[in-house]
Amino acid sequence: MTEIPKSHPRYASLLARERVAEGVRQGYTSTQGLIAQGRGECFDYLIGEKTNPSAEKAIRAAAALLLLAERPALSVNGNVAALAAEEMVALAAALAIPLEVNLFHRSEERVRKIADLLRQKGAAGVLGEKPDSVVPGLEHARALATRGGIYDADVVLIPLEDGDRCEALAAMGKKVIAIDLNPLSRTARKAAVSIVDNILRAVPALTEQVRKLSDLPRSDLLIIVAQYDNEKVLRQAVQEISDHLQRQFREENCRQHTD
Ligand code: ATP
Ligand code: MG
Repeated sequence: MTEIPKSHPRYASLLARERVAEGVRQGYTSTQGLIAQGRGECFDYLIGEKTNPSAEKAIRAAAALLLLAERPALSVNGNVAALAAEEMVALAAALAIPLEVNLFHRSEERVRKIADLLRQKGAAGVLGEKPDSVVPGLEHARALATRGGIYDADVVLIPLEDGDRCEALAAMGKKVIAIDLNPLSRTARKAAVSIVDNILRAVPALTEQVRKLSDLPRSDLLIIVAQYDNEKVLRQAVQEISDHLQRQFREENCRQHTD
């Protein structure tokens, strides 16, 4: 990988870009994944490259949903593997559930490479290499899923997922948790809980919340879920972008006046 000096003002963003590029070189990320990363970077810039209060609310509700679930499932695609393989393994360990490799541009080789990477990072269980069912409403390669994983899950976490698949999973009656930097994407709008944040920050924060909330009685978790309003959280995320941009603009004006 290209060396990036820690002092670079865009260090975290450049490092993430490098990781996705490395994923493509290693063969577990698709070339389309590079474009998805670019779109994500743009929205990360707009939200201020930090976990905003709207995302904190969504992360808390997501943790409660995952803890309440009878059969929670965690989806991993090529970008997720490149950016946050270790973090997803830690989340799976905190919930004591497997991870499922689930690709938009599916190839058996890519599935195997991602599964190997997750195992190498310490995953106890990895599904997705032998899908045995299909999600209704999607064309075949994109519909493949596994029983005991995404197919019969009641709650599914889908980081960086396409809107169609999010919708198809929701149509099966599942509670879908999305991680997506774009609060306007179809994925964010179709999910039950939309975490508008970079996966690099969101997954460790989600794992921390799962650990923190795991001591609570179910009744308290149910209250957290009942009080959560995704529509409101998405509106708040858009407002945070607007506030951030206004602040940037004001600071820039101040600088010009004092120069
Ligand atoms: P939709 O179909 O839901 O409208 P899309 O098809 O337009 O979405 P894609 O480009 O296919 O979106 O998928 C990439 C999505 O993942 C984008 O919404 C992008 O903001 C988001 N994304 C990319 N990188 C990251 C990241 N590091 N963390 C979180 N989200 C990301
Ligand atoms: Mg899409």
